[in-house]
Amino acid sequence: MDFLILFLIYVFLVLLSILVVCIYSGRKQSFPSRYVTWLSQVLLCLIPSQVQETAQRVLHKLFHTRNCLFVVLHLILEALVYGEYTWEVFGYCKELEFSTVFLLLPYLLLTVNMGFFILCSKTNPGSITKSNQDLFLHVYAYDGVMFESGIDCSTCEVRKPARAKHCGVCNGCVHRFDHHCVWVNNCIGAFNTRYFLVYLLSLTSMAASIAILAATFLIEVVILSNMMLGYYTDDKGQERPADASFIVQHLFLTFPRIVFMLGFVIVLSIIIGSYFCFTLYLVLTNQTSNEWFKSARYKCSCSQHCSRHRGYKNIYSKGIWGNIAEVVKPLTNTGKRK
Ligand SMILES: [Zn+2]
Ligand SMILES: [Zn+2]
Repeated sequence: MDFLILFLIYVFLVLLSILVVCIYSGRKQSFPSRYVTWLSQVLLCLIPSQVQETAQRVLHKLFHTRNCLFVVLHLILEALVYGEYTWEVFGYCKELEFSTVFLLLPYLLLTVNMGFFILCSKTNPGSITKSNQDLFLHVYAYDGVMFESGIDCSTCEVRKPARAKHCGVCNGCVHRFDHHCVWVNNCIGAFNTRYFLVYLLSLTSMAASIAILAATFLIEVVILSNMMLGYYTDDKGQERPADASFIVQHLFLTFPRIVFMLGFVIVLSIIIGSYFCFTLYLVLTNQTSNEWFKSARYKCSCSQHCSRHRGYKNIYSKGIWGNIAEVVKPLTNTGKRK
């Protein structure tokens, strides 16, 4: 099997895995989740208990406490991609007389991305404490299904406003809680969702701009060297015209780091771009990830509404422009329009 087919299978499997996780997340009775549960039970029987305890401690530290591991990983990946771009792609593209503005665009996007990354991680997402709980208590109405009135958080002991949720990682309740993001090491809530949206958009644009530049450079190399008109000798000693598979393998052998980086930034553009579209959909419909995820529980699967399943309806949407305005200028009791 040649390199191109192996690479395409790899990209396909990565995208398929992500799709399966997205589709079946939250559906505990679905086939993939039953399979994963069964597989984990089998593995648990095979692994010694001491190893299990250590693994649990490490996983707890990584995913259930605030730590900088994913922030460092994120910075290392960015440094590797930008290092390769600066070291090889930028110089080669300059020799081929690419537009300087086009070549500097990834650095401009990196500056924007870093700014919004800092805003996402340093902005208070809307932490609710005993001293400020009154400010959040009447911002949103309780829908009586997902959010019930008169409930106190058992950990922080604050009265829970509608749309708030306790974050186990940050150990606090957050106003209009969306999710806890390990990549920015902070909760995404009412006051930093706007920054998170621009952060995702700039990250997608960074990956896409580098992918376009690297792909354009490789296409230029193929065109300028007339590679498509060339011939190569196969394993059986027969001369064959250069096809797409041969050209990709040849480029990989000549520019291995650039081709590898191109594959990585293409996959990254698709994944982060899809996630940005999902986050934008949530903003336009005035839902949080937490509400979108939980809403599946309240959907009635019966043909008629039964007493066990109370139908969930999003009562917070005010139309597209109203929903965007709410994310740009988050509501608090003092700023709420009456
Ligand atoms: Zn709490
Ligand atoms: Zn958190």
